[in-house]
Amino acid sequence: MLKLIDKTLPTKAQDRLQKLQSKVNAKTTFKERTKKVSDLWEDKTETDIDKETFSTIKTTLTTMCVGVGLCNYCEQNEASDIEHILPKSLFPEEAFVWENYLLACKHCNTTYKSDKIDIFNPAQSHQTERVERGTEPPAKEIAFIHLRKENPLDFLELDLDDCRFYPKAKPNTREFAKAVCTLDILQLDERDTLVRYRESAFKDFANRFEEIVRVGKAQSFEEIEAITKAKPALDKTLPFVDSREKLLEQLKKDFKEQEHPTVWLEMIQQKAKLSLSLQKLFDENPVLLLELTP
Ligand SMILES: [Zn+2]
Repeated sequence: MLKLIDKTLPTKAQDRLQKLQSKVNAKTTFKERTKKVSDLWEDKTETDIDKETFSTIKTTLTTMCVGVGLCNYCEQNEASDIEHILPKSLFPEEAFVWENYLLACKHCNTTYKSDKIDIFNPAQSHQTERVERGTEPPAKEIAFIHLRKENPLDFLELDLDDCRFYPKAKPNTREFAKAVCTLDILQLDERDTLVRYRESAFKDFANRFEEIVRVGKAQSFEEIEAITKAKPALDKTLPFVDSREKLLEQLKKDFKEQEHPTVWLEMIQQKAKLSLSLQKLFDENPVLLLELTP
């Protein structure tokens, strides 16, 4: 997971969201507010203005996703659902708030995150509890990494040996609790396929980086073909240097669109744990490394 890079929501959509939120806030009790949220959310495709608003929201959120429209939680599946970081059924005051949205895949949104959230209770402590479905949270500070506001890599570290996430902070701290609760809700280490995909992403990133370096140094079409094996992007109708540049652009684009960019970021941050040959490659190509850093 990576912190989302913020984009501004167009004013028209922002205004509409505020109007919807004010309808919720006008209600007196928690029950009335959650009922209003549920009704408004159900109806959001009923009118042209709301259809347009939520289409704008989805489009803007898509541009903020990792890779090309990848789920911001698992970094593996296609991001399709508008996900409320603070669940709308428990935090009605955040239901129509732009900063509470991100795009997640169906799997993460409905199977794992759903309306689950942990909170710190008592406030300011490092003790957490899961908010019960349908009840007003007894405290408002969430024990869940807020990807619109927080950098998950301040809380979590990917172990490059087993490709699982571990809390960075010491036990009995709020940072530790937040990391544990986030992992527990999203089950990022329990889903075997995800762990396996991260392992293969690790190898893939290393191979692709080496490939880009070698193509950059190649002096003939034959040399490139030997490195890349039949890559369709190699355009032999162009002069060699132009063709090599075109291919390099394509390879870099593909690299940046790879699933699991967190794995790559952790490879850079934990360089000392990589093989000596990969460390050497990193040291010799600082500009390329910077260019490919998410
Ligand atoms: Zn997902």
